[in-house]
Amino acid sequence: MALNGVPDRRVRRIGIRKSVSLASLVLLPVTLNYFSPYLIIDGLFHGVLAGAFFVWAGFFLSGLIAGRAACAYICPYGGLQTALDEWTHKPLRPITHLKPVRYVLAVIWLAFILYPLLKSAGVLQVQPLYLTEGIVSVDNWGKAVFMVVLVVLLSILPLLFGKRATCHYLCPMSILNTAGSRIGRLLRIPSLRLKSDSSKCVSCGSCSRACTMSLDVREMVKSGRMYHSDCIMCGACTEVCRSGAVVRCFGRPGSEGRPAPNGEEPEDERKQA
Ligand code: SF4
Ligand code: SF4
Repeated sequence: MALNGVPDRRVRRIGIRKSVSLASLVLLPVTLNYFSPYLIIDGLFHGVLAGAFFVWAGFFLSGLIAGRAACAYICPYGGLQTALDEWTHKPLRPITHLKPVRYVLAVIWLAFILYPLLKSAGVLQVQPLYLTEGIVSVDNWGKAVFMVVLVVLLSILPLLFGKRATCHYLCPMSILNTAGSRIGRLLRIPSLRLKSDSSKCVSCGSCSRACTMSLDVREMVKSGRMYHSDCIMCGACTEVCRSGAVVRCFGRPGSEGRPAPNGEEPEDERKQA
């Protein structure tokens, strides 16, 4: 049976996407250390490449071929945003002066990582389980309390400002796969992307309402400008578009839709200026 005109097959896909994202949150007690920038820095100062270093590097490299899909499917803090959105259904409130915060945080973290990395290059030991010898990150009450405090802190922005506000305004990891996707586009590496056919669009607006990152997907489809640095390739817009005007595909940059009139690469376009 179809839900709001969305075929069963797509309803199942929506369920799977949300379940995968929520599973990443449920696994946080296991994965906490593997996403920790602190462990990367601590490891580097002790001549060790910790597991988190490879996760962060993976975030960057995944951006080359999958855009920001890691935010939608792998990141436990993305899973937290999914859970809060399912609970509150609060629309994103655009706060322009918060937008630079995640870039500033990313620069600070990367400076702390690059300094010891460059200083000790060539003499680093690879220890994926550095300070996580038992594989599970949360193995005592102190770490459990830390995890709960972290979850509460990362819940404040979405509770105040709506859908995925932490991803929009705070997350430094998002800069890594955004940088990866931008470099991938420059190098014209085939990657996961959205593709539109404006002639099929009936302007129903379902895609914009469904967008996990509150983008104006309808306008993106109309203009043929389907690349947006905030798009996390979740596919929510494609799941609700009944006319097939927006789909996910794998291909080279420029295959997104009708090219911009001046022949340039499509630029970012935001719903909220
Ligand atoms: S792309 Fe699809 S869902 Fe979005 S406005 Fe057009 S027809 Fe509606
Ligand atoms: S534009 Fe589509 S794929 Fe990108 S974040 Fe929005 S819903 Fe997800």
